[in-house]
Amino acid sequence: MKTHFINRTILCLLLGTTTTIAVAWTCEILREHNAFSERQGNGVMCLTPDEQQVAVVWQRTAGTLLIYAEETFLNPNSPFPHERPKPETEQRAAWFEIPADVRSIYNPLEGIRIDLASGWPVVALSSTPSPRAPSPINNGIEITAFNHHYRFPLKPYWPGIAFNTTLYAPLWFGLLLLTAKGRQLRRLKKNLCPTCRYSLQNLKTPGCPECGWNRPIKKEYRRTPARCLAATLGG
Ligand SMILES: [Zn+2]
Repeated sequence: MKTHFINRTILCLLLGTTTTIAVAWTCEILREHNAFSERQGNGVMCLTPDEQQVAVVWQRTAGTLLIYAEETFLNPNSPFPHERPKPETEQRAAWFEIPADVRSIYNPLEGIRIDLASGWPVVALSSTPSPRAPSPINNGIEITAFNHHYRFPLKPYWPGIAFNTTLYAPLWFGLLLLTAKGRQLRRLKKNLCPTCRYSLQNLKTPGCPECGWNRPIKKEYRRTPARCLAATLGG
């Protein structure tokens, strides 16, 4: 029973992680199709921990976080000729004024770049599409289909993965439990043993003779502390 519970918990954690990845990729597909039509978001000019002044702009839609940044003064050749980020706060903000997830996903030491993260309810995977297309994407897979560029992020954002997985795993646990209960009820209706499907028709005693389901254990076989001790001592 205990092993069964542990196995089921591990299975649900695996299913929860898979769901986290699937949801993140779905968010990315939705983003490619309509979100971020207006390239405006929150932005700040800030001083990074290594004393570089950069413009960091981030946008959020349901399930996706797009961060783009440039070292404004170091790189006059912006990769965003038409959609240059316009930070709302044209002042030097402290690096830690940027939300924690944006800060964690974006690495300012790598210069001009775009970071794209997705997942729901919090972002869980990120990728770095090159701002100078058609260079390949970093930390992700890019698939072009139906005139769209789908970017499936692969770089884990561990706090996000942990949060989403702990949310999805109990849902899977409940779903599997309901399925198992339903299966047992269906078997009982057909007069079959709910555990091993042995036919319970025309039996004089209740329970299953095959696997012992619903059978009272005979008194002489019951485990008592004295019997357990005797069995241990006797080898
Ligand atoms: Zn049985």
